[in-house]
This record gives sequence, C-alpha cells and structure tokens, in this order.
Amino acid sequence: MTATPIRHDWTLSEIHELLELPFNDLVFRAQSVHREHFDPNEVQVSTLLSIKTGACPEDCKYCPQSGHYNTGLEKEKLLEIEKVVAEARAAREKGASRFCMGAAWRSPTKKDMPYVLDMVRQVKSLGLETCMTLGMLNEDQAGELAEAGLDYYNHNLDTSEKFYNHIITTRTYQDRLDTLENVRKAGMKVCCGGIMGMGEDEDDRAGLLMQLANLPHHPESVPINMLVKVAGTPLDDVEDLDPFEFVRTIAVARIVMPASHVRLSAGREQMNDQMQALCFLAGANSIFYGEKLLTTSNPEADHDRQLFNRLGIRPEQRGEAHTDEEREAGLIEAMEHERNHHLFYNADERKSA
Ligand code: SF4
Repeated sequence: MTATPIRHDWTLSEIHELLELPFNDLVFRAQSVHREHFDPNEVQVSTLLSIKTGACPEDCKYCPQSGHYNTGLEKEKLLEIEKVVAEARAAREKGASRFCMGAAWRSPTKKDMPYVLDMVRQVKSLGLETCMTLGMLNEDQAGELAEAGLDYYNHNLDTSEKFYNHIITTRTYQDRLDTLENVRKAGMKVCCGGIMGMGEDEDDRAGLLMQLANLPHHPESVPINMLVKVAGTPLDDVEDLDPFEFVRTIAVARIVMPASHVRLSAGREQMNDQMQALCFLAGANSIFYGEKLLTTSNPEADHDRQLFNRLGIRPEQRGEAHTDEEREAGLIEAMEHERNHHLFYNADERKSA
C-alpha cells in the first residue's frame, strides 16, 4: 500500500467534500491514514502550566484571561522559575513527555525574555520536550527561544481568516501568520490549531483546515479545541456545535495533515468517554493532562488513565522515533517508564474497569 502523499495544495472544495462524507466513510478514511503514520494505540501526553495568568491586553472573545472581560479569574504574576521547574519535574514523574508553558501576553517584553529563556533551559535540562505560548514573536525573540532549546511554539490561528475579526480585533490573521513564520525560520516546531463551536460555520472550519494544511510545513501539533463557554466572555451563550461536526473536523485534520499529532485539547473535560474514543478513532493522538495533574489528588488524570486502559491506549514514548529501530528502542524505554509509573496498559485492569 502506498502512503498517502503529504500535500500543501488543498482546495476549499476538497476539504468541504471530506467534511461532508458519510460519517462512517470519513472516520474509516481518517483511521486508515492515521495507521500509515502512527501507532494507532498510542497517544502523546503533554502537560500545560500557566506561567502567567490573566489581564491579557488582547480581546479574544472565547478567553477568560482577556482583560477586556470580567470573568472573576484571579490574575497571577509571572511564576518563579523554581516553581515552574518543580512542576515540570512532577509532570515528568507522572508520565508527561512534553511540558508546555503558557503566558497571557500579547507578546513578551524585553524584560520578560531573560526569565522565559532561563525557564526553557531549566525545563529542557530535565529531559522534557519544551513548548511555550507567549503571544506574538518577532524574529529576534524566536531566535533567542530556539537557541535556549525551545522545541515547540504554540500559536493558534483559531478559525478561518474570514471569521477571525468576529473573534479577535486586537491583532490580525496576518500577525499570526508572521509569528508562525518567525518560529519556523528559527528552526522550532510549530503547534497550531483552532477552536470549534465559536459560532463559525462549516466554511470557517474548512477555511482553518485549509490554511493549516497549506502552510509550507504542516504544524507538528494541531490542537483542535472545543469552545469552553465561560460566563463573562462574549461567547458565553453561543449555540452548541453538534459533537459529530467536531469529530468530523478532527478526522479531516488527520487526513489533510497525515503526519501531524492532532491534539484533542480544550473542551475534553466536557466530553464523555465515548466522544473521546470517537475522536481517537478519527485520528486524534495527543491530549493534555491539565495542571491538576500536578496536584497529589488527581481524579482527572486517574480517569484519563482508566480510559486509556479501557481502550488499550498507551502514552506515546518521549521524543520522536524516525526509524523502526528507534521506534522499537523508544517503545522499550516507554514501556519501562510507564511500568515504573503505573501507566502501563494492563489487560487485567481493563477487564475489571
Ligand atoms: S492572547 Fe491568549 S491569553 Fe490573551 S486573550 Fe487571547 S487567548 Fe487569551
């Protein structure tokens, strides 16, 4: 069987055709493409920590961290480096392979840069992959972060270009694309996706997928979020998106970006187990364990672990395997790691779950 070629020339009508396939045909196709590039029973697990919360000057209508809306969110200053490193260590112990740090900024200032660069160096020295989301970056900032060892930069396009100014007015789509270009030029990997259920239509979902799939390099990670409606934000009472439309979006993301990790991201807590399993079947192969992972009592992470066991899913090993030998060595290392950390798939446990 020849592998599906990786394309960067998708048309809007091709993406509409995929989104409108009979559901079973679409999911079958997505799962077939998925198996050409990934172990279908592995899901990559990342942990996200907010290093600076709230009071953001941007006006993203979905975001409780925007200073434009009153959501009762407690603002926090930039976390101390020691605290970030301690939490990264805890995440590593719980099986996370990548540690993502997010700050609610329009872009980092000159004063912020030495702190974030030091954070990158220290988290990286723990053997974790590092990811940051800090807002817009110019070429110099992207270069400095890459030099400090940052592996991934997250910068979402959120939606289609035509729907963008219904959601955000304090920056443009082109600003986003410029930052993505700066990140790529600096040699970092890109994490870029969007949010569904913001009142957009199918054309907007298709437009976003086309934009992502036609970037010169596909983002290595593509977070597909379901809007979490937060009281006090302008999207608080927007109409719910049909969950099957969400699964369709994941499936098409998998087909048009076959080698990227498609991440089931925000909104996962609101989904039942069956919905999450459908998303995995449609090609999602990455999740976030939330910050609650880092607290000792963590029912959310336990629930994720049980779901993985029930579905026979294993957390993906650290790093990316490129050859069969590397993959095999990585799997052995991951199995050892998971066994030591009680995340290893256990058939007996699954039977009783
Ligand atoms: S830039 Fe980020 S933190 Fe700021 S309002 Fe938008 S989504 Fe929220």
